[in-house]
Amino acid sequence: MNDFTGKTGLIVGVANKRSIAWAIAQALAARGARLAVTYQGERLEENVRELCASLQDPLLLPLDVTDDGQIARVFEAIERGFGGLDFVVHGAAFAPREELSAPFVETTREGFRLSLDISAYSLIALARGAAPMMEKRGGGSIVTLTYLGSQRVFQNYNVMGVAKAALEATVRYLAADLGPRNIRVNAISAGPIKTLAASGISGFSGILQHYRDRAPLRRTIETAEVADAAVFLLGPAGRAVTAEVLMVDGGFHATGM
Ligand code: NAD
Repeated sequence: MNDFTGKTGLIVGVANKRSIAWAIAQALAARGARLAVTYQGERLEENVRELCASLQDPLLLPLDVTDDGQIARVFEAIERGFGGLDFVVHGAAFAPREELSAPFVETTREGFRLSLDISAYSLIALARGAAPMMEKRGGGSIVTLTYLGSQRVFQNYNVMGVAKAALEATVRYLAADLGPRNIRVNAISAGPIKTLAASGISGFSGILQHYRDRAPLRRTIETAEVADAAVFLLGPAGRAVTAEVLMVDGGFHATGM
């Protein structure tokens, strides 16, 4: 069920070894998938190149998701290198640091625009590029990463919560649009994990402790556990699942008082 031999995928959102997208990439590669992995600009290239040295014949491509030209070049390279595409992992998100510390009511127009562009619109752009190549394989599966801050207020999550709400709605609309082409679109809503992106959220350690104290499993989660859920959604075991937001958070989302 979990064999990805002969499958090809695109992984967006690897910054370093702590990245959730990197854990997913490793899980898929270990099951036989061949991967195209993108890096955001030269600053991260070296890091990502070093990590990818452990993968089997990866395609390494630059990608800033705000740049339509770069998105087009990624899919051209995948077309040449793989001839088709079975899955996409979308793990790109960004909000300017000021937006995550100022009161929410101070959210700027530009901060809002940029956060929603990178963290939500990019999924549409990537799905559009991937769809024709997935059709060649008889269908495909797309997974993005979200957080409960889309539905509940978490201190300092601010505009990123709004972006995640847009992202989750985007998952449902894409799933409806692409479902007839046998392309599935889902999100994993992960519990908090200390990564580069998380370091931008002030008070993050307090959030981690709160999960340890309150989540039904009384612990936080690890990137490898998100990766296992992604393997399910991306592979044949998840073949009837689309338009879903799968909670991988030790059950925290169910708690009230
Ligand atoms: P991370 O910092 O490792 O990954 C974020 C990625 O977004 C980086 O690789 C960065 O290069 C990329 N990115 C930002 N702007 C980009 C742009 N313009 N173009 C291309 N890529 C861009 O952190 P992470 O925690 O692994 O984040 C991955 C995803 O998981 C994000 O969507 C994040 O919101 C989500 N998530 C994280 C947590 C957590 O607690 N860490 C919880 C739930 C969801």
